[in-house]
Amino acid sequence: MGSLLEVKDLKMHFPIYGGILRRRIGTIHAVNGVSFNIMPGETVGLVGESGCGKTTVGRTIARLYRATEGEVTFDGIDLFNYPKKQMKLIRRDLQIVFQDPFESLNSRHTVATILEEPFIIHNLGTPSERKREVKLLLERVGLSVNALNKFPHEFSGGQRQRIGIARAIALKPKLIICDEPVSALDVAIQSQIINLLLELQKEMSLAFLFIAHDLSVVRHVSDRIAVMYLGKIVEFMDAEVIYQEPKHPYTRALLSAIPLPDPNRKVSPQLLEGDVPSPIRLPRGCGFHPRCPYAQDICRRQAPELRAIGGGKHLVACHFSEELFS
Ligand code: SF4
Repeated sequence: MGSLLEVKDLKMHFPIYGGILRRRIGTIHAVNGVSFNIMPGETVGLVGESGCGKTTVGRTIARLYRATEGEVTFDGIDLFNYPKKQMKLIRRDLQIVFQDPFESLNSRHTVATILEEPFIIHNLGTPSERKREVKLLLERVGLSVNALNKFPHEFSGGQRQRIGIARAIALKPKLIICDEPVSALDVAIQSQIINLLLELQKEMSLAFLFIAHDLSVVRHVSDRIAVMYLGKIVEFMDAEVIYQEPKHPYTRALLSAIPLPDPNRKVSPQLLEGDVPSPIRLPRGCGFHPRCPYAQDICRRQAPELRAIGGGKHLVACHFSEELFS
């Protein structure tokens, strides 16, 4: 079986303009060479601290930004060379759920209009068929038909996220990019939304790129997890392996910061000191070296490649991962 999504060496740099003449005075290196794939029906979690570039990865894949470099193949189609005017055909199969559905839900439209829109854009069904589909969608995401004539601001955050999900699944996509879909919600609501996404995945064989800053959230949903730091993937592996045997100092620090009720947990607590360096002036060598307790001279000079260790699929970008955590 081939990949549904293949991302190769993706880079996304944003220019900074300043001064009276609005000249370019710098560059934000948000994404610096990211490669990964997602299989049909699979969930890949993309995790890292705020500002690590994970949201930019999702948005660049969906062509909300124009990539600086790299290739993205979705369902066999070269996305970055696909005519912009025809992108609506791709959107049918590739959807996004945003952290704040206000970003994507038109506040002046009722829920009925919002959910009918994808069918109208794609010329699907008669008006009565569309209305029936909209009711089914609402039901499927756990909202009553009373919601139909209300506006987004009349709902709670969790309910709004359900509407965002309903719209995302309306056309039965193959992949949904979930951009921090539960970060703004209370813990109890978070698990309801995650359970809803998992149910929908099973029913519809959906694949997810699940972006989050919270490892404990990603843990529940992912088959594989990619950990990002300063615009690069520093570790990538099956979800359970990454939790039991993380091999990158940054992943270990992230993990040790969350309370896991797991008796098999092998990671000893490790405090992560300092802030993420500015993506405007990237450190030389390993991007993590200013915060890494194991940094040596080579780390300050040479950036480690993301490489397979242990002869398997576990990928790590650290010069010393085998010696440090064998
Ligand atoms: Fe730390 Fe060096 Fe590994 Fe980077 S390469 S994570 S600085 S030990």
